Amino acid sequence: MKANPDTPTLPDDGAFTLSTAFINGKWLSFDGHRHRPLIDPDTEKTVGSIFCPRESVVDAAVQSAVRAQSDWAVSPIGDRLALLTRITELVEKRSDQLAGIISAEIGAPIDFASAAQVQAAIQHLMATHEALSDMTNETCTGGDPAHRVRYEAVGVAGLITPWNWPLNQVVLKVGAALAAGCAMVLKPSEYATRSAMAFTEIVAEAGVPRGVFNLLIGDPETGAQLVAHPGIDMVSFTGSTRGGQQVMQSASARFARTAMELGGKSPNLLFEDCDLETAVRQGLAHCFRNAGQSCNAASRMLVARPIYDDAVAFAADIAGKTQVGRPFDPGPHIGPLVNRAQFDRVRGFIEAGLGSGARLAAGGPDRPSHLHQGYYVRPTVFADVSPDNTLFQDEIFGPVLTMTAFEDEDHAIQLANATRYGLAAYIQTADPARADRVASKLRAGMVQINGTSRAQGAPFGGQKTSGHGREGGLWGIRSFQEVKSISGLPASPDQG
Ligand code: NAD
Repeated sequence: MKANPDTPTLPDDGAFTLSTAFINGKWLSFDGHRHRPLIDPDTEKTVGSIFCPRESVVDAAVQSAVRAQSDWAVSPIGDRLALLTRITELVEKRSDQLAGIISAEIGAPIDFASAAQVQAAIQHLMATHEALSDMTNETCTGGDPAHRVRYEAVGVAGLITPWNWPLNQVVLKVGAALAAGCAMVLKPSEYATRSAMAFTEIVAEAGVPRGVFNLLIGDPETGAQLVAHPGIDMVSFTGSTRGGQQVMQSASARFARTAMELGGKSPNLLFEDCDLETAVRQGLAHCFRNAGQSCNAASRMLVARPIYDDAVAFAADIAGKTQVGRPFDPGPHIGPLVNRAQFDRVRGFIEAGLGSGARLAAGGPDRPSHLHQGYYVRPTVFADVSPDNTLFQDEIFGPVLTMTAFEDEDHAIQLANATRYGLAAYIQTADPARADRVASKLRAGMVQINGTSRAQGAPFGGQKTSGHGREGGLWGIRSFQEVKSISGLPASPDQG
């Protein structure tokens, strides 16, 4: 492994090879193994490759964070705020470049990458900054100053992220861990390496102290090595429910803390008093955006029986008009899926759905007729999907909507809660009392009513197999902290 301060250059056009890590404030190239090709989702051509680090490199990254941990844990809050400000400014300054990288690596349409993916990252950084400015890390119990409760950094954090909102997911974890006082090792998705490298350049340029932030480019096995490392005190994982389960099993061997942001199959409940056209249009847009590759996609539309037929007809019409286009084409459209495995998997779900008793209302397993290569899937709607159908139960992670009729409010709630997931839920109704009643009965970490977005800094996360722990704002920072109770010693005036 050799230090190479000149390595941080991002790959130019043409094939490139990445065997690199950022450890103890330096870019390093290493003698990697487990070669993985990087494929352009638009052209299906190999554009580069990564080599994964050997275990000694993983160990070096963790040891670097371990050495930095104790100083960063007691660093002045003002220093952390200043660092977050500089990172936010640099992300804003490089937003066009970051959007271009995200488009190239995951196929997200460029306008969407810019307006949604990069902007979401900036907003999360701002929300973390705001929460850190306002929060206090010490309170007292029962109003007695001799009985204190102190929030302290949990220790070295292993951060593992997926590819679908790559910058956003990295920023949610890195910002919160920095704010909480944790040193960290980030292992981004093997499909979103370049955006993570660009963000690493930003964190370095912003002046993160040596060793507080470390990056490993690698695959799931690299992630597994990180999780199993005894120097990691907490693992914050965003990814599939299956990956999360493996991480939890490994981390539990030494009681390392985990935060899990996993899959979803989120219901969207349309009651008969809703504004039907708006609800269906927004519901489809939410399901299809990012080509359906969002954990909180509103992928199950549950519709009151009296408006069901109209809703299906309208949804089919909108799906048929939804544009599919190439990543660097301007304008609103959906792009390709990220990789061949996703492409085969999503088309497999659609093909299985055709013989499942559900009714195909729009789309289907073939590529859109104007696109002859690339991992493109037609926006697809299945109606009359019963709760025992795999289309209803499984996270498809593609532009596929299921529609199911419900008879009354209790039936709607029963259907909404009838999967193993519990990430998000959406309610469309003109009746606030009903919205409140239903929201309280849904087993989901987040409920959004009548198209309202979550506020900046609102807690993001799920229940059941969608995970545990929350990201965003104050909740995101707290998930990287331990609680300590101190009794018998009042706080001195300079402790806050
Ligand atoms: P994935 O589980 O395949 O991979 C996610 C990350 O975990 C990658 O960095 C991968 O290398 C690593 N990884 C995989 N298996 C591992 C293991 N056993 N040990 C350690 N690391 C491992 O998921 P993906 O395909 O990259 O992402 C899509 C999934 O992520 C979907 O299920 C989606 O719903 C979920 N997701 C959830 C949220 C959320 O906030 N709840 C947000 C985005 C994506």
